[in-house]
Amino acid sequence: MRTPLVMGNWKLNGTKESVAELLNGLAGPAAKATGVEVAVCPPAIFLGQTEALTKDGAIEFGAQNCDLNVAGAFTGETSAVMVKSFGAKYSLVGHSERRTLHAETDEVVAAKFKVIQDNGLVPVLCIGETLEEREADKTNSVVEKQLAAVIAAHGVAALENSVIAYEPVWAIGTGKVASKEQAQEVHAHIRQWLAAQDANVAAKVQILYGGSVGPATAAELFAQPDIDGGLVGGASLKVADFTAIIEAAQ
Ligand code: PEP
Repeated sequence: MRTPLVMGNWKLNGTKESVAELLNGLAGPAAKATGVEVAVCPPAIFLGQTEALTKDGAIEFGAQNCDLNVAGAFTGETSAVMVKSFGAKYSLVGHSERRTLHAETDEVVAAKFKVIQDNGLVPVLCIGETLEEREADKTNSVVEKQLAAVIAAHGVAALENSVIAYEPVWAIGTGKVASKEQAQEVHAHIRQWLAAQDANVAAKVQILYGGSVGPATAAELFAQPDIDGGLVGGASLKVADFTAIIEAAQ
C-alpha cells in the first residue's frame, strides 16, 4: 500500500559534467522501474540542470536543505520557494550532517519542516541515533524525541504529507549498514509510536532506511515490512550501484 521510494542524497558532490553523466545514466533504469519512485537530491546549484534532465518525470528531485527564511538578507542560503520554483518535489530536513555540522537543533528542524511543507515541498525528515546513544540503549527515545519536536510544533497530521528517513548516524558514510533486523526493529517502533497518536498517519507515512545502503544490502532491507525504501548517499553517485538499488526496491 505504501509505494517504495529510493532517494539519492548526493551531498557536496558533483560537477556540471558528472551531474549530466549521472542523470543521463539513470534515465533509462528509472523509466523502466515499476512500483518504485526514484528521486535524487543534488546540491542546490544543480537543481536547474536536474529539472532539465528529468523532464520525462521518471526521476523526482529535491533539495538537501532549505533555509528557515523564504527570502531576504541571508547570504549563501537557499529557500524552499526557490527549490519549488525548479519543480522539485522534496527537501531533506534534519540530515545528521546538518544537525552536527550546522548545529541544527530539533526545534530548528521542526521549523524548517514547516517552511518546506508550507511552500509545497514534501519534507523528508531525517532522524537517527549516534553510536553512543545506541550503546546506551537510547535509540527509541532519540527517534521519539526527534519526531516529537515536529509533532509538538505542527501536530501529528503534518507528518501525513512527509517522508521519514531513519538514518542511524553510525551507519552514515561508514560502510557499517544496520542489519535488516536492527533497521526493521526501529522502523516498527517508529510506526507503532506514531500509530498510538494517529493510526492513519502511521499506516501511510513512508519510512526510508539510510546508512551505507548498497547493492548488496538493499534487497534484504527493503523486504522488511516497515522499510519503504532507502535514502542513499555514496552509492547514489554511481549509476550501476543506484540502478541495482532501484531494482532491489521493485
Ligand atoms: C545519507 O547521506 O543520507 C546516507 C545515508 O549516506 P550513505 O549512504 O553514504 O551512508
